[in-house]
Amino acid sequence: MNAIINIFREKKLKLTPQRLAVYKYLMNTTNHPSAETVYTAIQPEYPTMSLATVYKALKTLVEVNLIQEINVCEGNFRYDGNIKSHPHIKCINCKKVEDISSLDLNYLNEDANKHTDFRILFSQVYFYGVCKDCDK
Ligand SMILES: [Zn+2]
Ligand SMILES: [Zn+2]
Repeated sequence: MNAIINIFREKKLKLTPQRLAVYKYLMNTTNHPSAETVYTAIQPEYPTMSLATVYKALKTLVEVNLIQEINVCEGNFRYDGNIKSHPHIKCINCKKVEDISSLDLNYLNEDANKHTDFRILFSQVYFYGVCKDCDK
């Protein structure tokens, strides 16, 4: 908890219970939840918090680069407490999103550099497939 408070101070971010709750939740999950999922999960502990407040807290946390938005072809973003660039894989059946942490895609940026005039800064790579549970 103290670590989070220090991080917020560093980012000059006002410590609101809402932001803390949302950030704490994201730091403790690798499920890549949507705003709705975050809202439902913290609802029991913060019954007065609205979905709009959760959205606002998420937006603020993305802006100061404490969390990242990921876009897995849904109407809404999913959120990740891990801000390092890493590839994701989504199950097209149950919609679960996981990290592929051990896959290093630096070579991909270098390779792409050879094909464009742009100076590549980062990339977001998403894979789609069927997870083990759904593949039974
Ligand atoms: Zn699945
Ligand atoms: Zn992730």
